[in-house]
Amino acid sequence: MSQFDRTGGSIGSSTPETEGTLGRTESRIAPSEVFSILGNDTRVAILRAMLELGADEQPVSFTAIFERIDVDDSANFSYHLEKLTGHFIAHREDGYEFRYPGRKVVSSIFTGTLTERAQLGFFPVAGSCYACDGPLHGWYVDDELSIGCTDCGTIQVSYPFPAGGLDDRTTEDVLEAFQHYVRHHYCLAADGVCPECTGSVETDLVADPDEDDLDVAVEHVCERCGYRLESTVGITLLDAADVLVFFSKRGVDLNAEQFWRFDWCVSDEHTEIVDENPLRVRVTLPCEGDELRVLLDETVSVIETAVVERLPE
Ligand SMILES: [Zn+2]
Ligand SMILES: [Zn+2]
Repeated sequence: MSQFDRTGGSIGSSTPETEGTLGRTESRIAPSEVFSILGNDTRVAILRAMLELGADEQPVSFTAIFERIDVDDSANFSYHLEKLTGHFIAHREDGYEFRYPGRKVVSSIFTGTLTERAQLGFFPVAGSCYACDGPLHGWYVDDELSIGCTDCGTIQVSYPFPAGGLDDRTTEDVLEAFQHYVRHHYCLAADGVCPECTGSVETDLVADPDEDDLDVAVEHVCERCGYRLESTVGITLLDAADVLVFFSKRGVDLNAEQFWRFDWCVSDEHTEIVDENPLRVRVTLPCEGDELRVLLDETVSVIETAVVERLPE
């Protein structure tokens, strides 16, 4: 999948702990702690084994997991299982199951990547989740870099990134390169040039896109190679003149900021449909208490912008 991947949604709708003794707040842990919990091969192997054993569907037994893991010592195994119990997994009467917050992240790390090539880099990323304000982490698996929330499992952004881009770079440098790479791909597509083959790209606004949880999305399709990109409406505004000026007047250089820090870039929470036929949407961009309202037509062209300034107290 080469578009924004949104696996968020109703937080807590299937949270088992709402009926149990543990509340959501108690399951919150610091980002550094998540990192240290997952920074261990045995624990990663346990999570992978649980996924393979179908813990997504029903609890799996201690023995079943133990038999799949390459550890001789059951005490050692118990120790690592214990470390995961709490945030990532829950111990029930009939076995172990994933807990909701960790499960989404865990399954997105492993789904379709059960190969030797899979790489797990689980590193903290600055910013917070648009859905729940939780901490963000990044990981790189099968040529795709993702940034998601470890509290609710919402993926902020997920995009293919060539493995060579990781060479000789710190995670901070990788994120910097990733942010330029992704935004330029989307901007290229929005300018009518295919990022894959440089063919001509057709860009449309789509209400209720099937592959996505978005109410409205932007769809880019290459007429030459068929390459498809889907994104939020917000991200196409990153190089819109009025938008750049609005932010720059308020001291924010949009070109330098990591776009996933802006809710309006990674979600459709700031996008509303104002007309169905033809489709028109308005994106509201907040900055320093003021707002820029941008109206776009069905070809994703900006028709009108309006600045709404905060009233003086
Ligand atoms: Zn979240
Ligand atoms: Zn193409």
